Amino acid sequence: MSAPAVESVAVSALRAVLHRVRQAAERSRRGPDEVRVVAVSKTKPNSLIRQVYDAGHRCFGENYVQEIIDKAPQLPEDIEWHFVGHLQSNKVKPLLAAVPNLAMVEGVDNEKVANQLDRVVSSIGRKPLKVLVQVNTSGETSKSGVDPSGCLELVKHVKLGCPNLEFSGLMTIGMPDYSSTPENFRTLSNCRTEVCKVLGLTENHYELSMGMSGDFEKAIEMGSTNVRIGSTIFGPREYPKKQQNQ
Ligand SMILES: *Cc1c(COP(=O)(O)O)cnc(C)c1O
Repeated sequence: MSAPAVESVAVSALRAVLHRVRQAAERSRRGPDEVRVVAVSKTKPNSLIRQVYDAGHRCFGENYVQEIIDKAPQLPEDIEWHFVGHLQSNKVKPLLAAVPNLAMVEGVDNEKVANQLDRVVSSIGRKPLKVLVQVNTSGETSKSGVDPSGCLELVKHVKLGCPNLEFSGLMTIGMPDYSSTPENFRTLSNCRTEVCKVLGLTENHYELSMGMSGDFEKAIEMGSTNVRIGSTIFGPREYPKKQQNQ
């Protein structure tokens, strides 16, 4: 008889994260089902993703197109993949071809990539793809995302000009901010309020993707519906030498 399985480090870490998410959701008077946890597995091997999958988690995120193209086809089809961060329009076609179970692109930040996603979804005949518009709320030039002042125009374009995309909300990468109300999260939330007001949409039908390993509890308290958590679940990332400056 085999000994009882010892829970892997990643699975214990996942459980701890889910517990913290539940508590933060309660503090913001929401249920645990109202906040999605995207386990961001970039640079991590499929064997580790599989452990977290076997513990019952289904939503995973990747940030490099070539990496998700290599990994996703080797993993179960009922994984809901999120592509997180900037996506180049010339990578849209290979991404959608290799990952039919891509559930969401979190990082549409210009009309060109929106148009290309719309066109490719239509040409391969898959169901409409959920997208979040990425907003650069910190003003850092190193970060992608549309300016808060350009958010409404881009959302309008996606809603009105891209019938094969399902506009689902806004996403941002926050800057470390140890104040009680981090400014970047406040800005994203204000963008959603403005967009919904102008376009006549119901605010709580649209997502706010904000919060990563270092700040997800604060983000949830400020209304996040989708947190993207990598290193707290999978451990620190080890980049191969050539990628170290990314
Ligand atoms: C890598 C990544 C994350 C996860 O970052 P951690 O700090 O490891 O939790 C979240 N969002 C995006 C866009 C990322 O690229």
